[in-house]
Amino acid sequence: MSIPANVRIPTVLILGAGFGGLELAACLSESLPGEVRVILVDRNDGFTFGFSKLDVLFRDRTPESVRLSYRDLVLPGVEFRQEQVTSIDPQTRHVITDRTSYNPDFLVVALGADYDPAATPGFVADGHEYYSIQGACRLRDQLAHFDGGTVLISVLSVPFKCPPAPYECAMLLHELLTRRGIRHRTRMHVLTPMDSPIPVSTDTSAALVDALAQRGIDYSPGRRVHALDPENHIAATHTGDLAYDLFIGIPTHCVPPVVEASGLTVDGADGWIHVDPRTLATPYPGVYAIGDCADAPVPRAGVFAENAARTVAAHIAAQLRGTPTPGKYLGQGSCYIEFGDGLVGKVDADFLSGPKPVAPFVAPSTELAAEKAEFAATRIRRWFTDQRTVTGNS
Ligand SMILES: Cc1cc2nc3c(=O)[nH]c(=O)nc-3n(C[C@H](O)[C@H](O)[C@H](O)COP(=O)(O)OP(=O)(O)OC[C@H]3O[C@@H](n4cnc5c(N)ncnc54)[C@H](O)[C@@H]3O)c2cc1C
Repeated sequence: MSIPANVRIPTVLILGAGFGGLELAACLSESLPGEVRVILVDRNDGFTFGFSKLDVLFRDRTPESVRLSYRDLVLPGVEFRQEQVTSIDPQTRHVITDRTSYNPDFLVVALGADYDPAATPGFVADGHEYYSIQGACRLRDQLAHFDGGTVLISVLSVPFKCPPAPYECAMLLHELLTRRGIRHRTRMHVLTPMDSPIPVSTDTSAALVDALAQRGIDYSPGRRVHALDPENHIAATHTGDLAYDLFIGIPTHCVPPVVEASGLTVDGADGWIHVDPRTLATPYPGVYAIGDCADAPVPRAGVFAENAARTVAAHIAAQLRGTPTPGKYLGQGSCYIEFGDGLVGKVDADFLSGPKPVAPFVAPSTELAAEKAEFAATRIRRWFTDQRTVTGNS
């Protein structure tokens, strides 16, 4: 569609080109072609799926082979800028980056969650994590030298990305150690401050607890590691100390510093950006927050960030076109869960459409492994020209 030269095109500035930002840019590109200018900003040069970190850790994939370059974005009307966001003023929607500044008509904060490993004393010195690409590479190298002993896998605080991920790590590690012939001389123990793995889904929790038991992996719900003693390799919990040879922790999550400094977290639950759960709008006109950085009452996962992106795209389109307010955010998404040995299960979660959340479980199968690979492939086709395969199950 061609726009007359004297018509001012509204700008939507999306901060963060992760799961949420990419899907929002795709939706706006589709639904408002030529009617908005979409600027997508990220400090990185490429996107990596969260679950690709498991492929780096367990399946010999290199970080380069699972990174999708933003050069290959295929979203008409979307301008990608590789810039670091350094300041956000939600009152004026004025955003400063390391290269320039912006005053958009709509501002969508999709900057994800950062990690604060130092929040657990001793963890930086003696712990491992696989939630960052660097951490996954470091742990992969450490595992190559591991010859048996006690492995603790511990959720250090809640909320954290992808609630099934600690259990996926345990089951894939069990598979790896079994293949290497050292499982019989390794004790594995999963600890979490939560009462069950997936509180919204009794079926999924039961399946995960059962899968750990079948593999001889100890499981301690309601038990949080609050500090490590790096010299003696001891993890402290409120019910006693535990010795370990390898400590794998899911680090404490927090909003990125630029979000913290913006004031957007005022009144937000537990330090996250406060949003209206129906619309993902912040208290500031024209400012939305989606995905891991927002306090919408859903788990931190890419599928919910995507679902939120679609809601915000519909709200922006309705405002620009003067059409009725679209439906509320439903908080829906299907999360795939790796059980090892090529099997993948699924939980179909729906948090906000009904009177209470529902999340039925679908038992692990090779068909679901193929479905997970297709899930990734559809996102790659939708967002990028690069048609690479990024999941190890495909
Ligand atoms: C091991 C693991 C497995 C997972 N498995 C799944 C799964 O199977 N299914 C699922 O749905 N989810 C999964 N997740 C979770 C998923 O990856 C995240 O929930 C999802 O990426 C959140 O999307 P987002 O858009 O909110 O944030 P992100 O995807 O994290 O994107 C945020 C973006 O903001 C950018 N950014 C941050 N600060 C700045 C700044 N100051 N300036 C510029 N750019 C900045 C970052 O570079 C990043 O690209 C998994 C996560 C992990 C760690």
